[in-house]
Amino acid sequence: MGKTLHNVKIGETAVITAVHGEGALRQHLLDMGVIPGTEVTPVKYAPMGDPMEIVLHGYKLTLRLVEAETIEVRELTEEDRKAAQETEETGEPEEEEGQVPLDLRRRSGDKKMTKIIIHPGLGEEKYHKYHYPSLTTPLPDDQVIRFALVGNQNSGKTTLFNQLTGSNQHVGNFPGVTVDRKDGVIRGYPNTIVTDLPGIYSMSPYSNEELVSRDFVLKERPDCIINIVDVTNIERNLYLTMQLLEMDVPVVVALNMMDELTENGGTIFINRMEQLLGVPVIPISAAQNQGVEELIRHAVHVAKYREKPLRQDFCDERDHGGAVHRGIHAIAHLIEDHATREQLPVRFSTTKVIEGDHRILEQLRLDQNEQETIEHIVIQMEKEREMDRVAAIADMRFTYIKKVCRRTVRKPKESRERLRSERIDRILTGKYTAIPMFILIMALAFFLTFNVIGAGLQALLEMGIDRLTELVDRLLSAAQVSDTVHSLIIDGIFVGVGSVLSFVPIIVTLFFFLSLMEDSGYIARVAFVMDKLLRKIGLSGRSIVPLLIGFGCTVPAVMATRTLPSERDRRMTILLTPFMSCTAKLPIYAFFVNAFFPRCRALIMTGLYLIGILMGILVALIYRKTLFKGEAVPFVMELPDYRIPGARNVILLLWEKAKDFLSRAFSIILVATVVIWLLQRFDFSFRVVADSKDSILAVIASVFVPLLRPIGLGDWRICTALISGFMAKESVVSTLEVLFGQNIAGVLSGAAAASLLVFSLLYTPCVAAIAAIRREMGCKWALAVIAWQCMVAWGASLVVYLILR
Ligand code: GDP
Ligand code: MG
Repeated sequence: MGKTLHNVKIGETAVITAVHGEGALRQHLLDMGVIPGTEVTPVKYAPMGDPMEIVLHGYKLTLRLVEAETIEVRELTEEDRKAAQETEETGEPEEEEGQVPLDLRRRSGDKKMTKIIIHPGLGEEKYHKYHYPSLTTPLPDDQVIRFALVGNQNSGKTTLFNQLTGSNQHVGNFPGVTVDRKDGVIRGYPNTIVTDLPGIYSMSPYSNEELVSRDFVLKERPDCIINIVDVTNIERNLYLTMQLLEMDVPVVVALNMMDELTENGGTIFINRMEQLLGVPVIPISAAQNQGVEELIRHAVHVAKYREKPLRQDFCDERDHGGAVHRGIHAIAHLIEDHATREQLPVRFSTTKVIEGDHRILEQLRLDQNEQETIEHIVIQMEKEREMDRVAAIADMRFTYIKKVCRRTVRKPKESRERLRSERIDRILTGKYTAIPMFILIMALAFFLTFNVIGAGLQALLEMGIDRLTELVDRLLSAAQVSDTVHSLIIDGIFVGVGSVLSFVPIIVTLFFFLSLMEDSGYIARVAFVMDKLLRKIGLSGRSIVPLLIGFGCTVPAVMATRTLPSERDRRMTILLTPFMSCTAKLPIYAFFVNAFFPRCRALIMTGLYLIGILMGILVALIYRKTLFKGEAVPFVMELPDYRIPGARNVILLLWEKAKDFLSRAFSIILVATVVIWLLQRFDFSFRVVADSKDSILAVIASVFVPLLRPIGLGDWRICTALISGFMAKESVVSTLEVLFGQNIAGVLSGAAAASLLVFSLLYTPCVAAIAAIRREMGCKWALAVIAWQCMVAWGASLVVYLILR
């Protein structure tokens, strides 16, 4: 093998000549644009020497050195340079006849023109394609039109989704799998549903999430695909578009981030692009809500009149003797009947058959003879094209994309955002600064959350709750309600729910910082920087995302593992998320720290988080040697430019979190507090007990007392609190408040309190998290997690207790 990408010096440009390796990874590399003939420039190595960052097709990609060694390159020649310059010079597309003036396209959505809506752009003059409502049967007026939002990661799907739906959204799961499914009704169009799909790069699924998106398009057949394309990264984004056009479903292309492109002096010749792609193309800026109205009108229109893409055929018979073109068409005819029978789009199935997609191949049920014929055709194609099948198909698509871009896109000379990103990256992923900056940023986020913003708001809220409690207390006394009811309301509900409610600000603030890091593009850098470290415990840099989210809440963290491309990594990451201390445990920590160690608040809080992480690492090392042998999957990931997250997105997310938490406080926690209050008030013959030691609760909980005695927690009230914590961690505190009142410090020793802190940190995650784990990994694993976490917690607490006693 000749020179590989690994040998290329930083900052030097080379041309890819071959991509070795095999299977899904290779397909993924090709889908990401790592194709023979592409120019590529290494940018830097991660601080620990691996992985590396490269630039190709104008975007940044990271991959490990092992993968870099499978990519063969040659030096850039004078001819390459000249060719590149030529395309740049012809970059300004000449005016072609048959262009539709821009303003006509704009007018097409005009209310006055509802009678005949001209199908936008599609070369009205050139192709003489007008839309005549009488020629197609529109969907009936009362039918709900289903839209799917499809696009690359970070192309602005969530931003657009929020613009389209306002707050009319519903978050659920995709049937059968736990990926957040967001459905919403488009504002002003009550008969519509739009679904925000997980971000994908290609219709060859590399991770589970990508499979979800592909299956949604293939099986649920939305009435229209809204394909969102990031224009600042247009070549790579159009790669998905090319495949969506093969799906035989109406498509509109939304060119997002137009604001950035035009600000930097770039433009796109929209009408020409519509001609070349055969579908409506609408320039928008999701963040600034520009063009969204127009997008909706076009999308509704093509969906209603079922206007499929005018072109699906992008292979050129003049390209390298037409080898690929002939191969595709020959096979398309061969499998046409099978595909139609299975209701698969023919053109899509053809390219998948050539690429060797086993899911599609199985579904088509070709017989032996047909399979062999196809294999012969493909081999012939490979021979003539001098490239293997997967690369040949990817190359065919990129060749067309380049043609489209050459004729329609005028790129900005220098993008301010790109320059800004580079400057930021010099520090945030710099050799010596990256890791200190990561620690600093995390520390700052936590400091601000706990000591400044969150805590300030919390004090305010607590004051409010106290006032309200006092007021209700006085009212109840004045109304002379019975002592039992009075006590239930004040000692039960107000104290219990109140102690949890006051944590809303802290939780929301922590989520605010986490979402800021994710939306801005920083978490991708963390993955890049930490990959080598995570590899030591048997994971890849991608796992950092779910793990960091785990500091917020285990449920979304478990869901976020869906983005991981390998089942092994996914499972292992899921099993590690419970070690990242979630926000619901904060009330517990705060309660004990205030009662026992008020002077070293920060120290103990930090210590607990660190203990969680250290235990996680320890357990990961054990997993690596036992349950999950082998290596983490390759790490191929895009590094998006830094962007300032949209305020709207952030606010909606925080509102969602707050709502979630509040609804829990007023359902599970309220019920748990009331039940526990009742149980500790009565004995088995339903008489009010004088001392709660004789209550039903004490009897039930005392079963667990012997188990927890060795770690210093042999008190039935603590057992009760921990059990209620299984419902929701926050209710540990509300239960303790109900059972102990204010005098817990008199009952527990310091060592026992420390032991309890560690136990709460590590023991079984709450029901919601367990349910998420069950959906991801099955019942057995979920039960095992409960048992295992309790065991780990017990062991760690014992150590702490014995040391401190
Ligand atoms: P998703 O990963 O596809 O859901 O993308 P997001 O909606 O999270 O957007 C990724 C980033 O791009 C966020 O920081 C957004 O604020 C930003 N963004 C989205 N749309 C636009 C846009 O039209 N213009 C600009 N400048 N930024 C945008
Ligand atoms: Mg998103």
